[in-house]
Amino acid sequence: MSNAIKTLAIVGGGTAGWLSAAVIAAHHKSNHADRLRVILVEASDIPTVGVGEGTWPTMKNTIRRIGIKESDLFSQCHAAFKQGGKFVDWVHGNGDFYYHPFTVPLGYGRLDLAPYVSSIEDFAVQANFQHHVCEAGLAPRGLNEAEYSGQCNYAYHLDAGAFAELLKTFCKDKLSVEHIIGTVQSASKNIDGNIDFITLDDERQVKADLFVDCTGFSSLLLGKEMEVPFISADKYLFNDSALALHMPYADDEDPIASHTIATGQNAGWIWDIGLTHRRGVGHVYASEFLSDDEADANLHHYLGPRADDLTARKISFKSGHRAQFWKGNCVAVGMSAGFVEPLEATAIMLVEISARYIAENLPPDQNTMRITAKRFNQQMDYRWGRIIDFLKLHYLLTKRPEPYWQAHTEDASIPDSLKEDLQIWGHRGPINTDFDSAIELFPAASYQYVMYGMGFKPNFDSQAYLYQEQKQAERIMQQNEKITEQMLQTLPPHREYIQQWLRTSR
Ligand SMILES: Cc1cc2nc3c(=O)[nH]c(=O)nc-3n(C[C@H](O)[C@H](O)[C@H](O)COP(=O)(O)OP(=O)(O)OC[C@H]3O[C@@H](n4cnc5c(N)ncnc54)[C@H](O)[C@@H]3O)c2cc1C
Repeated sequence: MSNAIKTLAIVGGGTAGWLSAAVIAAHHKSNHADRLRVILVEASDIPTVGVGEGTWPTMKNTIRRIGIKESDLFSQCHAAFKQGGKFVDWVHGNGDFYYHPFTVPLGYGRLDLAPYVSSIEDFAVQANFQHHVCEAGLAPRGLNEAEYSGQCNYAYHLDAGAFAELLKTFCKDKLSVEHIIGTVQSASKNIDGNIDFITLDDERQVKADLFVDCTGFSSLLLGKEMEVPFISADKYLFNDSALALHMPYADDEDPIASHTIATGQNAGWIWDIGLTHRRGVGHVYASEFLSDDEADANLHHYLGPRADDLTARKISFKSGHRAQFWKGNCVAVGMSAGFVEPLEATAIMLVEISARYIAENLPPDQNTMRITAKRFNQQMDYRWGRIIDFLKLHYLLTKRPEPYWQAHTEDASIPDSLKEDLQIWGHRGPINTDFDSAIELFPAASYQYVMYGMGFKPNFDSQAYLYQEQKQAERIMQQNEKITEQMLQTLPPHREYIQQWLRTSR
């Protein structure tokens, strides 16, 4: 087959580049001489974005499939468990908070507990134990449990730079990924419009059958060379700036939060991610509503005097995504495909999903690639729509009075698809069948935690059938209380668990 796909070149050595290389090379690992050749080209003079430390539970499976030990991830990336998100000050801004935990409510799929909880804001408290586990600062599993298992579902917080290093070493040593250092200057296309080869700053040429653009915001191959336009999402999600810094612990033995803390500010929010050796903290905000100096003041106020000498790094971004994600023989993964603010850590999750799709659907030849590209584009387009809707949901139910928050509640700032969902959910809340497609990113439970946590109460009274299982619902909630009690007594403190586990797993 003359136009067979035998060589794949990834451009970019950030999280997207190395994670894609690892997922694709691990999937196509073979002793056969004819196996897929994976090359990664990265510039030494263009830094990675250096943030992106919160992940989604899909990462467990991704890391396991690549073949990395979970204990290596923890020891080499200063990782910690992430059991969900705690959203502080998103509703009134007066200390209110709710959790979006990663474990689904008890009885999920059998009985929807929402109509039966005593107060809708307490849905996560009464329907699930993980809220309590997080509040108590506990690990999701005990010392006698195996790697990758857990009594509570979890993802990771990890040091972005160390994660890329771990993946790079693994890719080169274990997965035969070829590493080329050089800055791509241009791409040469053939008469079909496909990329034939890329030329580096020292004139070297890299030829491949499929190019994966992981060049971050510059979107060098898909955006610039293949001229795929960018579709802005800034009329729904206003944030376009971030200030990020590393915050040392006051004491090496300080507790580590086992969830991301997202605290609402007057025109944005602050993320707080606990790793074992430091916290990663940053302020995401909308420049239309807040100046850099004001954001810096918010961030330092949040961190207190211990951060007085710390200078935050500014990152600007545009919310949105490319009109196509795969064009010809070029597919974009990571921020070259798109980025909307880091709320709910969807970016790395999309990298995992995209890389897995490419690995599993690697077209056998250029003729089939057209079909694969079409399907990939359809899926990714749907997913971006869902992500925008889900993130927007976190804002539009706010009661905060500041202009930034009020602007988020204006009709014109709400996607039509989300308006439709809300109209339906106004009667019975989100349920599984709203999300039964295999390409859904978030389960109904995620929508429930966020909407109910923000006080959205469907008119359950209009649906008499919803109240027929009172006894069963009470039983489940009592069971939840018992499980919670048991977990609070048996699960170890988060930092203590990581230390002991890593000591014994050496
Ligand atoms: C403020 C902020 C917070 C975030 N937080 C999270 C989070 O908590 N969770 C999450 O999932 N995501 C988060 N993200 C997104 C996450 O950081 C990215 O998805 C992830 O790091 C992947 O980035 P990337 O590899 O696409 O781009 P980059 O890290 O920018 O890497 C681009 C790579 O391309 C290379 N490159 C560029 N041009 C060339 C060229 N001409 N030739 C050769 N190489 C080139 C660069 O050298 C670099 O290696 C956040 C993003 C921002 C902005």
